[in-house]
Amino acid sequence: CEGRMNDRVSGETCWPPVLERRPPMLDLQGRNINKLRVSVSEACNMACSYCVTGIEDHQVAPDQLAMSDLLRLVELLHRHAGIEKIRITGGEPLLYRELIPFIEGLTQVGLEDIGLTSNGLLLAKSAPALASAGLKHINLSLDSLQPERFREMGRAGSLKSTLKGIDASLKAGLRLKINMVVMKGENDDELADMLEFGIKRGIEVRYLELMRMGPLYQNGDFKLVTMEEMLDQIGERFTITPAKADHDSTSKRFWVPGGYFGIIPNESAPFCSTCSRLRLTSNGKLVGCLSNPEETSIRHLLDEPNPEEKLKSLVMESVSYKQSSFTGSDLVMSKIGG
Ligand code: SAM
Repeated sequence: CEGRMNDRVSGETCWPPVLERRPPMLDLQGRNINKLRVSVSEACNMACSYCVTGIEDHQVAPDQLAMSDLLRLVELLHRHAGIEKIRITGGEPLLYRELIPFIEGLTQVGLEDIGLTSNGLLLAKSAPALASAGLKHINLSLDSLQPERFREMGRAGSLKSTLKGIDASLKAGLRLKINMVVMKGENDDELADMLEFGIKRGIEVRYLELMRMGPLYQNGDFKLVTMEEMLDQIGERFTITPAKADHDSTSKRFWVPGGYFGIIPNESAPFCSTCSRLRLTSNGKLVGCLSNPEETSIRHLLDEPNPEEKLKSLVMESVSYKQSSFTGSDLVMSKIGG
């Protein structure tokens, strides 16, 4: 039958069936848009100073979709718009009551690469259930290993809880990466400490350059530490060798004796030309670019009997909002799924 499920001429069923190949979604620059970040809720139990002006910014969207509807939209994006890799984010996704059934649903849809971004405060209890539901990896946001500083930068939470969450996740077999947002004068003296912490546990640390987003957009007090400055600092304790990263990776990768680390040079060398991701908000809007506040609602497709063609054109609309370089915007990361 040569790749066909059924032989159209004889009508016979071919076996083994060949799985339908989903067409990739290429944009005008030839980028394969295959990654989706889904914000399951805007609620968060921290209020990081670089993300929001205060905890009151974290309200559940009044028109937040039901879990089954959000799942259906992701399924449509997977089946008809080339999405292969999912990262669940927020807000804080561990506050989302239906997180486990949501992950189980994604697994049933056939998505194999399911990740989560979390501050880890609630991970200690939920790590085994997350792994059983099909979660593969977690990007854990951790900006400081000093308890007081952790609370200052995040305006809430306790370092102890996040550290317990890390231990529980490793025990549950989840792959971890640590994401550390670096701010001048706040935590930029901790880069080598964080790397040592990661190396001891087999966790890759990724340092994030601060982005001009949300409250930092057009803010004069922008505490950027550039990739070069980070490398200088880490180089005082470690011998650094550049390493290879995936072609569409957002991070520059380096090797030091003991392990790898990455730097995401959001400001000094943005990765727009290889950006392969879209964002879906908890109320059903696609966001194509962090530097462009244009949103494309797709929630009305839930009422369509045959939404495929409309979905494809709405995805292309959202992708067309991608800018060629990162200039920032007033979009708040916790709303659009950071
Ligand atoms: N609550 C989860 C967490 O803390 O990981 C997920 C949401 S949080 C918005 C996702 C990521 O966005 C975090 O790694 C956070 O550090 C990052 N982020 C938010 N605002 C940022 C900014 N202005 N610059 C760089 N990274 C930022």
